[in-house]
Amino acid sequence: MKILVPLVLLVAASGSAQGTQSLKAQVDGVYPAAEALYIHFHRNPELSLRETATAARLATELTQLGYEVTTGVGGTGVVGVLKNGAGPTVMLRTELDALPLTENTGLPFASTVKVRDAAGIEVGVMHACGHDLHMAAWVSTARIMAADKKSWKGTLVLVGQPAEEIVAGAQLMIEDGLFTRFPKPDYALAVHDDARFAAGVIGYRPGPIFTNSNALTITIFGRGGHGARPETTIDPVVIAARTVVALQTIVSREISPFDPAVVTVGSIHGGTKHNIIPDEVKLQLTVRSFTKAVREKLLTAIARVAKAEAAAAGADREPRIVQDQSTDALVNDSALTRRVSSALIRELGAAQVIDTPPEMVSEDFGKFQVAGVPTLMLRVGAIERGKHEQAAKAGTPLPGLHSSQFYPDREPVLKAAIMAEVIALRELLR
Ligand SMILES: [Zn+2]
Ligand SMILES: [Zn+2]
Repeated sequence: MKILVPLVLLVAASGSAQGTQSLKAQVDGVYPAAEALYIHFHRNPELSLRETATAARLATELTQLGYEVTTGVGGTGVVGVLKNGAGPTVMLRTELDALPLTENTGLPFASTVKVRDAAGIEVGVMHACGHDLHMAAWVSTARIMAADKKSWKGTLVLVGQPAEEIVAGAQLMIEDGLFTRFPKPDYALAVHDDARFAAGVIGYRPGPIFTNSNALTITIFGRGGHGARPETTIDPVVIAARTVVALQTIVSREISPFDPAVVTVGSIHGGTKHNIIPDEVKLQLTVRSFTKAVREKLLTAIARVAKAEAAAAGADREPRIVQDQSTDALVNDSALTRRVSSALIRELGAAQVIDTPPEMVSEDFGKFQVAGVPTLMLRVGAIERGKHEQAAKAGTPLPGLHSSQFYPDREPVLKAAIMAEVIALRELLR
């Protein structure tokens, strides 16, 4: 690989203007490979727990760079270890999975992948959360760290985690011995793109940044029959409609305005035909909160409302409420965040490195903290600068993460992500 030669020559201490200068040159050096890899992953997305080709490609990349690579950790997870003398152990994590979404970006390298989901329904597949970009940055950071071993000491553990979008992969990797079969990290880092900010901005925030999340399926039972003879039935479609509306008053009437909370019904399914009243209707909900108390209050109120609406309609059976997935709030370790953000501000300047507010979204990166490792997730602004300014002026929201139209402004975003990862790793691996 040609680019490795100049990289080795560009060794400089971090923490100086000269260090930042040569880091810029290192990032420019790895960028063509990073962009090609980003486009490859964007074109070839895979759904959660099926990331086999993605994992294989990451494993190949790391092996070529001299990392000791293990695959199949917690399903399709990849672990790459690079030892460089005595010192701390730091983990850098990327996600592998894409979303069941038909891409509508118009990009020349847009995904056209279609697969059958777990229910047998054909779905498009798209990297709409930026995990393709995270993987490309992760490999590029691995490349710079391997080529420039004089700038750090210790053990680097690169973790490619499957199934983030279903908040399952972190736990699967931990249960498969991530912290027993491999060196247990002193710190764990991750970078996630952020559609609230202009391309290249680096975001940090000590404390909670993402929410508790609970995914629920509520099955409402009625009594089916002919659509023209409603008096002989108990109509679960009507119960479901009332339930969806009643659930909206939980946050507005039962939770303090000072406590962030969300109850969203994202899916409602029932019935097959105009003139048949079905036996049941299924609702799928996502429930978000930051504290344990609010989380419990929301879940209790949802169950109460669902049961009461069914009872009000005279249903014979109470609704069935099943928790499909849940994850805990993601909390950035305060001391770690302060240390890394200071290094980032020193290297990149206070204009590029900003304190960013929390979001009502969720992640399973916090599982690593629950397992005893201080964690920090940094953000990197994703939106092309001009577009971002225009949208801010006009007050029109731009497509964000999980939108079929979302895509990051790849060059500045990739470069900023790599830069942030290398600066953070060099700061901690001393
Ligand atoms: Zn996502
Ligand atoms: Zn994501």
